[in-house]
Amino acid sequence: MTKVGQPRVKIAEIIAIDGPVAVGKSTVGKMAARRMGYRFVDTGTMYRALTWKALQQKIPLNDEAALGRMSAETRFELVTSADNPGQNGILADGQDISREIRSAPVEKNVSLVSKVPEVRHSLVNHQRRLAEDGRLVMAGRDIGTVVLPEADLKIFLVASPQERARRRYQELITGGEKATYENVLSELQSRDQMDITRQVSPLKPAPDAYVLDTEGLSAEQVVDRICSLATSGSPNK
Ligand code: C5P
Repeated sequence: MTKVGQPRVKIAEIIAIDGPVAVGKSTVGKMAARRMGYRFVDTGTMYRALTWKALQQKIPLNDEAALGRMSAETRFELVTSADNPGQNGILADGQDISREIRSAPVEKNVSLVSKVPEVRHSLVNHQRRLAEDGRLVMAGRDIGTVVLPEADLKIFLVASPQERARRRYQELITGGEKATYENVLSELQSRDQMDITRQVSPLKPAPDAYVLDTEGLSAEQVVDRICSLATSGSPNK
């Protein structure tokens, strides 16, 4: 029995947030981390950085051995992007490529690079090391299932492709980018398809994940639920 004054629920020290493209993982993950006083790690930036590097070095994206070697040799430093609070930046081998990792060629090819088992192997090891000190929110596709299966709280965010495309389109237009809603929607659906059907670490909720439908909810409301789950074990305090 719980004694008076003793907390009934252990506060989640490691929070995994997974979900499909543009569901808001980085936006709400970063806000939740700030509220909890935790670090935030956006693992998508690492897959994007490797994709950018492979394109720069003209490594054929079907050369799995070369991609694997490149990922094992790359040094990463994750940074917070000042010009877009929803996005996160990265230095690869000391070079700031925060802007480059959001470019169209990277968007188009990142799911090809991220399905390579050797690439995943070295990035997953790196991500686990980042989580060793606890008190962190980590976002991605396989955090609850593969990277941190022991996470205290696993959130799997969902929203319809149309809603996600609408949000991403707005973000691009607000940032001064040229985009059409139709292109954003079709690109998002093809990336999701590759992420869901790949052999290694496909995108799916962990059996013990809390599936949170964000449709019609503001980022603040999603963060309220995540922080409530993290501190009281329930989505509503
Ligand atoms: O989250 P973001 O859209 O930046 O991720 C870019 C891509 O990186 C995803 O579409 C997916 O292919 C890959 N990724 C992954 N595993 C993760 C994070 C991202 O495969 N943990």
